[in-house]
Amino acid sequence: MDCPFCKIANGDIPADICYEDDKVVAFADLNPQAPIHKLIIPRQHISSLNDLTSADNALMGHLIHSAQQLADQLGIATDGYRLLLNCNAGGGQTVFHLHVHLLGGRQMRWPPG
Ligand code: 5GP
Ligand code: ZN
Repeated sequence: MDCPFCKIANGDIPADICYEDDKVVAFADLNPQAPIHKLIIPRQHISSLNDLTSADNALMGHLIHSAQQLADQLGIATDGYRLLLNCNAGGGQTVFHLHVHLLGGRQMRWPPG
C-alpha cells in the first residue's frame, strides 16, 4: 500500500520520531503549524475517522492517552494544547492514514480556518 504514514511506522521513510510503542507512533509534522506540531498515528492502517468501529475503541483511547503523555513531556500540558483530527477532504484531511495532530507552544484560536 502506498501510504506515507505506514512507511513511517515501518521505518521505510524517515521521520523525527518522538514516541513509539507496539500500537502507535508519534513524529514531527513536516510542515509545522505551531512551535510544537506532532502527529500521532496507529501502526494499523485506518484511512479515516469514518472507518473506525467499536473494535478500535481501545486503540483510539491509547492514541489519545499517548498524545496527552507527549504533551506533558513536551512541557505544554499546563499552558494548553490542541488535539485535532481532520476527516476526509471537506474536513481538511490530506493523508489518508488516521492521525491526531498535537499542536502547542502558541495561543490557539477559534474557529479554525
Ligand atoms: P491532514 O491534513 O491529513 O490532517 O494532515 C496531514 C499532515 O501530514 C500535514 O500537516 C502534513 O504537513 C503532514 N505530512 C504529510 N506528509 C508527511 C510526511 O511524509 N512526513 C511528515 N512528518 N509529515 C507529513
Ligand atoms: Zn497507512
